[in-house]
Amino acid sequence: SEVPEQLALRLADVSFAYDGQAQPALDHINLTIPAGAHVAVLGRTGCGKSTLLQLLTRAWDPAQGEILFNDTPLMQMSEPALRKTVSVVPQRVHLFSATLRDNLLLAAPGTADEVLGAMLVKVGLHKLLEDEGLNSWLGEGGRQLSGGELRRLAIARALLHNAPLMLLDEPTEGLDATTERQILDLLKEEMQGKTVLMVTHRLRGLADFDQIIVMDNGHIIEQGNHAEL
Ligand code: ATP
Ligand code: MG
Repeated sequence: SEVPEQLALRLADVSFAYDGQAQPALDHINLTIPAGAHVAVLGRTGCGKSTLLQLLTRAWDPAQGEILFNDTPLMQMSEPALRKTVSVVPQRVHLFSATLRDNLLLAAPGTADEVLGAMLVKVGLHKLLEDEGLNSWLGEGGRQLSGGELRRLAIARALLHNAPLMLLDEPTEGLDATTERQILDLLKEEMQGKTVLMVTHRLRGLADFDQIIVMDNGHIIEQGNHAEL
């Protein structure tokens, strides 16, 4: 199949500016991430963290440089292969006006109810299974979710998608310390051998990551593990 089991990433001299912006959002980024590495991406607001993740989903084309997924230029991957290769938990999670089941199945069509339910329990959303279970209607005309519940739903979705690369943009924002710990433990376990890039501004839990990248103003200013930084 076109979808690799493991994914190494390389960005070679990647620059990108949004339309109409004089300042590049990413400025000559060089980055190599070995297959299976779990990487935390830190940096102040507006430094380019989300843009970096979005380039890896091909949301934007870099003006300069090359992004390689296991030596294949990202630009050469087919859209279906790319979608199967990357799981995303975006900074702003979208909830569909649909059943809880369909909100999860979008990422993993055909998954059995028992598997969906087990994943909801793993992310701490067992409460959503009360009453109408997977048939509960979410979004407009149904149950609204808190910010933390939305993020955990998106994490469940992304884990069910089961891709070799997972991109998470501040997935633990708004979660209490205990829930955050559970989510980090879950990611560590479920994503073993798979590549993870997680944007965060929490300093808790960074020791779990193989690499920490610190960005500033479109640049990578520091890179190393928890002990080194
Ligand atoms: P935060 O921590 O607040 O989420 P970030 O590090 O994720 O910030 P980005 O969203 O990547 O930052 O933004 C990097 C720069 O690009 C910022 O200066 C931002 O204003 C700009 N930017 C982001 N999205 C767009 C867009 N769609 N059009 C124009 N400029 C944008
Ligand atoms: Mg962001």
